[in-house]
Amino acid sequence: MDSRAFAGLAVQYRPARLNPAGVCLYCETRWCRSSKCIEAHAASLWAPCPVCDGFSFGRCNNCMNGVVEVSRDGLIELADRVLPRRAEEPVAYAVAA
Ligand SMILES: [Zn+2]
Ligand SMILES: [Zn+2]
Repeated sequence: MDSRAFAGLAVQYRPARLNPAGVCLYCETRWCRSSKCIEAHAASLWAPCPVCDGFSFGRCNNCMNGVVEVSRDGLIELADRVLPRRAEEPVAYAVAA
């Protein structure tokens, strides 16, 4: 994978640093403007969750809204998978009572 393709993946799967309610993923402060958090977020790599493939909608305990933070190798490995368009089976987290 060349570095342009890699940079594209890094941007594609990285969630916003502030969640929809405005809370920072790193320090859990609303409307955080910390340069430490901004730098950590800019350097972070994310990929589709290997447990739910992103079909979690908050029900999967392995990911955050369908993505997981990964290493560089992890991003290449997870992003190279063929991702299903729709959830195929009821997955484990959906069945558990
Ligand atoms: Zn923060
Ligand atoms: Zn998941």
